[in-house]
Amino acid sequence: MQLPIFDLREKVALVTGGSKGIGYGMAEALGNFGAIVIIASRNMKDLHKAEGNLKEKGINVKSFPVDVTNKEQVNNLVEKVISEFGSIDILINNAGMNIRKKLVEVEEEEWDSVVNTNLKGIFLTGQAVAKQMIKQKSGKIINISSILSTVGLPYQTSYSASKGGINQLTRVWADELAEYGINVNAIAPAYIRTPMTESWLSDETRYKDIVNNTMLKRVGELEELSGPVVFLASSASSYITGQILYVDGGWTSK
Ligand code: NAP
Repeated sequence: MQLPIFDLREKVALVTGGSKGIGYGMAEALGNFGAIVIIASRNMKDLHKAEGNLKEKGINVKSFPVDVTNKEQVNNLVEKVISEFGSIDILINNAGMNIRKKLVEVEEEEWDSVVNTNLKGIFLTGQAVAKQMIKQKSGKIINISSILSTVGLPYQTSYSASKGGINQLTRVWADELAEYGINVNAIAPAYIRTPMTESWLSDETRYKDIVNNTMLKRVGELEELSGPVVFLASSASSYITGQILYVDGGWTSK
């Protein structure tokens, strides 16, 4: 039996980067609690595969292409979702990437692509969706941050800068949008197995370091983000806004 405070039936959820990894897992979790899920990313083949897999699991899902770094494409996506589904109740602002390099080796173009995807993309999508949520006078925005927003680790210059920015956007938007009944929070995971982290975690020394930094002594699994995302997307979290929820096996409290 599902508790009514977690019920997402008839809620429209837009998940950027929903074709893979964390976005896909969150789309599935929201769909399992009844949400109509829209997944959006760049690669059409991956999107269609994800859409098919989610449909097979009984989830009400539709996919649309978008590059979140492109304002016109983001605005078109938001318009299409609203014209087809009538509202956007939940935004999972998730699309992201990483290029891991030492400070002295980061090329300007690499900085630009990480910061444009992770920070500008979040801004463009959040802005377009917030305009709709303000009209609705309700909504839940969940930005996907990282422990690297607050913990300093090598090789993460561009990524950490972008994720630190996401934490601050979350706090600013929460205050600005509160009067419209919109809650804005972030989920900041530690290492979760996804296509983004697969090769990074396959290095044995690095993997041991990661595990040792984590109180729970293991990396996280996709399913362990399901509870946090459903909680923040549902009325169960109605008095929570401007918060960064660390889903990190205890890393940031160590
Ligand atoms: P992933 O497996 O690489 O998936 C990334 C998703 O984002 C894909 O669907 C990708 O599809 C999409 N994407 C990338 N660039 C995009 C763009 N410009 N426009 C639209 N979609 C785009 O990564 P992940 O591990 O699931 O990470 C998802 C989010 O969680 C990211 O924000 C990441 O920083 C964050 N995070 C991950 C971890 C972890 O350990 N995995 C930990 C903390 C935070 P296309 O390439 O087809 O566009």
